Amino acid sequence: MVYRVTLIPGDGTGPELVAAARRVLEATGIRFSWDVQEAGADVMDRYGTPLPDKVLDSIRVNGVALKGPITTPIGTGFRSVNVAIRKALDLYANLRLARTMKGLPVCHDKVDLVVVRENTEDLYAGIEHDVIPGEAAESIRVITRRATENIVRFAFEYARANNRHLVTAVHKANILKATDGLFLRVAEEVAAAYPDIEFNDRIVDNMAMQLVQRPYEYDVLVCPNLFGDILSDLCSGLVGGLGVAPGANFGHEIAVFEPVHGSAPKYAGQNKVNPIATILSGALMLSHLGEIEAAARIETAVRGVVAEGKSVTYDLKPDRNDPTAVGTKEMADAIIALMS
Ligand code: NAD
Repeated sequence: MVYRVTLIPGDGTGPELVAAARRVLEATGIRFSWDVQEAGADVMDRYGTPLPDKVLDSIRVNGVALKGPITTPIGTGFRSVNVAIRKALDLYANLRLARTMKGLPVCHDKVDLVVVRENTEDLYAGIEHDVIPGEAAESIRVITRRATENIVRFAFEYARANNRHLVTAVHKANILKATDGLFLRVAEEVAAAYPDIEFNDRIVDNMAMQLVQRPYEYDVLVCPNLFGDILSDLCSGLVGGLGVAPGANFGHEIAVFEPVHGSAPKYAGQNKVNPIATILSGALMLSHLGEIEAAARIETAVRGVVAEGKSVTYDLKPDRNDPTAVGTKEMADAIIALMS
């Protein structure tokens, strides 16, 4: 069996991270036929767009992709390619995992959180305009029953399939009564169909504080788009940083796997950043393809390398300036060595 997978290296540190993940995935013995597709700022000159149609066509045909991060210009320039891919393919669910590993300098042991983030609407609908240029601007926040039902159902189905016991809906319904009021009402309705899974809700600011103080009281968080984006970075911080947090985007028939973090452009080409988030996103992809044993082997090897603490990148050293930190490639080598 050879799996045909769209491979998007991305930009910034993306290409070196995706290369490392690709080597680890191939070291499992599973066979892949990679359909490499370029997207991002670097292809603008050639195609006139950062997201050529052929990239989306490839994902549609293959049904599965592994993607590196892609830079979005801040304040001006083209809109996010990452958001565009999610919207174009209706990848409505963004799954982001945060689990502590032995050997990492963290405040809490035993954090094991799943953020299920709505991926297609909220403030990311991108409906915004200047009211008075330079003085006032408006953005429209869209929350619909359909998208909320889809995301909350996804969270409960994920909880059921993965032996999770609690789903928490995160919102700001006290202030955003129309949009988050709808999100919370629909979440409560969907929750009623899953009596085997506990359900509660938290206002987002309180949620942020509780995650910092008592993260082990929570399990699966289901959030509108923006709160999910922010809280998933917070959760990554609880378990060792963005370098270790994997993610995936699911539609009804398509899945795109990518780390939670961005392109960290200041480190591009330096063989410096942590490949674990991209490697574990690849392991999630293997599980999605039904290759559970191979996925588990990758995760065990990652945990082994982290626990030993020797062949790890700078971000996993107690002192970030530790001269014994290894590079992206060397950390992938250590993971592969432990797998064989
Ligand atoms: P970032 O995630 O790139 O970096 C934030 C911080 O985390 C930086 O200090 C960086 O050094 C560190 N970091 C990130 N990845 C790391 C890794 N693998 N190992 C060690 N440290 C790591 O976020 P940012 O700086 O806000 O964004 C940079 C660019 O990435 C922006 O253009 C943003 O729009 C884009 N972005 C893309 C995605 C995506 O492709 N899905 C997601 C988030 C941000």
